[in-house]
Amino acid sequence: MINKKFFKYKYRDIFLLIRIWNNLRNKRQYSIIRLLIFQVLSGFLEMLSLASVVPFIYVITNPENIIDSFIIRDLILIFNIESNASLITLITIIFVFLIIISNSIRLYNLWLTNIIASKITSDFSTKCYANKIFSSYEDHLNSNSSDFIGLITNYIIKTTDFIYSFLQIIYSIIILFSLIFTLIIYSWKIAFSCLIIFSLFYSLIIIKFKYKLNQNGIEFSKRNDFQIRIIQESLGSIRDIIVNQRYKLFLQFFEKNDRKFRTIIAQNATISGFPKYILEAIGIVFIALTAYIYVINKFETYYIISLLSIIALGSQKIIPSFQMIFYSWSTMQSTKQVVIKVLKMVEKPRSKDLTFSKNKRFFFNKEIMLKNINFKYKFSQSKTLNNINLKISKGDTVGIIGKTGSGKSTLLDILIGLLNPTSGNLLVDNLDVHQNESLYLWQNIISHVPQNIFLTDSSFIENIAFGIDLKDINIQRVKLVSEYVLLDDFINSLPAGYYTKIGEQGSKLSGGQRQRIGIARALYEQKEILILDEATSSLDSNTEVKIMNKIKKLSNNMTVILITHNENSLNFCNKVFLISNKEISQKI
Ligand code: ATP
Ligand code: MG
Repeated sequence: MINKKFFKYKYRDIFLLIRIWNNLRNKRQYSIIRLLIFQVLSGFLEMLSLASVVPFIYVITNPENIIDSFIIRDLILIFNIESNASLITLITIIFVFLIIISNSIRLYNLWLTNIIASKITSDFSTKCYANKIFSSYEDHLNSNSSDFIGLITNYIIKTTDFIYSFLQIIYSIIILFSLIFTLIIYSWKIAFSCLIIFSLFYSLIIIKFKYKLNQNGIEFSKRNDFQIRIIQESLGSIRDIIVNQRYKLFLQFFEKNDRKFRTIIAQNATISGFPKYILEAIGIVFIALTAYIYVINKFETYYIISLLSIIALGSQKIIPSFQMIFYSWSTMQSTKQVVIKVLKMVEKPRSKDLTFSKNKRFFFNKEIMLKNINFKYKFSQSKTLNNINLKISKGDTVGIIGKTGSGKSTLLDILIGLLNPTSGNLLVDNLDVHQNESLYLWQNIISHVPQNIFLTDSSFIENIAFGIDLKDINIQRVKLVSEYVLLDDFINSLPAGYYTKIGEQGSKLSGGQRQRIGIARALYEQKEILILDEATSSLDSNTEVKIMNKIKKLSNNMTVILITHNENSLNFCNKVFLISNKEISQKI
């Protein structure tokens, strides 16, 4: 069943459009206003070009009585025309000229509308991405990356369709009314019957399919999210799939979902396209009937031909305009659901702002204090950490130990400022770093190696000097830190050396090599505080001791905090804390 909430006022098209408008940059709003002005102009030209059909057909079919027509009489006066032949030439030129101009303008409008729709969605997609990466670490922990990938890829494309369709509806309405207005001049009866027949026809279809299209929109977004999830999860666990022969299950999931997904796309395309064929038939019947009525009523042939030509040409444009309105409307209905999600992301408040001063520095001279820290994860039942008090002096090498799941990584995340303590303070030289902009400055003096390091599918250099523009990387320093973590011999033995690509998530490396890249990355940063979360767990004890020795030598001034289960590493620490039962106690 379709969600009832869906029909609430705030999900109506008009409110969505207002929300979109409110989120547009001024530049884009001006572009839209310019486009609308242009569309009105185009409608006017469309009117002229249609109106010029009658004089054209009239002079061609009835050269003897040209003077009868008042428009033509005016033309003769304005252009001072003396012969029939030159009159026919003039009218033909005007006719051809108007047709070419009005169609070129249509073409230009098509291009302009596409450009505006794509620029707006590019703004939106960048804003979504920015809002995503600027959201708090805890938000990231609680959201699913597949959903966001779905949003930033397919949903954004659908948003372009939504905006484009709306602009097309406006344009088609303008064109439609210009055409109908022209028809009224020549025959108001035909104009109104045209308007009534076609409007009635489309209204019936709209009533019939609105619900289905909305429902398909909801289903589309569900299937889309699910598909990305299946792909990500199956490729992420491909080792288990191969070893445990789980291919069939994933394939079945994928196929079932994909079938439904494609069926929805096909259904939407059919619903939005089919009225065209019925209407074309109605159009021809309409022309034939009009001709029949006029012939029966013994109107002059040239009059009937002129009228029929205007109806034929008009309906060649009127039917597509009606169809375009319907097509665009149905696209809007079927994409509405995803547009709501995109707008939600566009409007998401950011937790961080880019505007803090880059020149400011954080001064850490004495000590880091954790004071009465309590922490509970947003969606968890109970506290993870209870009343933590801890003091770390500058230059200390601190070990943190405790059973798995006891909260060691959580504690470090609070220390880094990734997680906000539920209560309590993180004081550095007596300054509460969770206040104001000091948090970002504090983070700026820390480098850390997380428990699960993320590597990109690029070279050693880009992974060690992570997030730095290739041209700004200090290669000497990359080589130096690789030496510290004993990776230099291995890297040099590779054909492309430091430029060798390491595969997705470092798939071409061993577990220990991946970890050492993580440590090298942290050392490259040359920060005052180094935090290692089980960063040496995959290394043999000999290598571990060598690397720790190196870090110790480097770190006269550096404060090192490390989580480890390993005695070797603990020997380097001058303080050791144990986390147990959510509380902390000092062991050394
Ligand atoms: P390990 O030695 O295995 O790395 P740890 O001591 O580092 O363990 P943490 O990762 O800090 O443990 O986790 C502490 C507790 O918090 C665990 O019980 C875990 O289930 C819970 N936890 C971790 N992350 C979240 C989260 N995002 N939401 C809810 N609970 C979480
Ligand atoms: Mg951990």
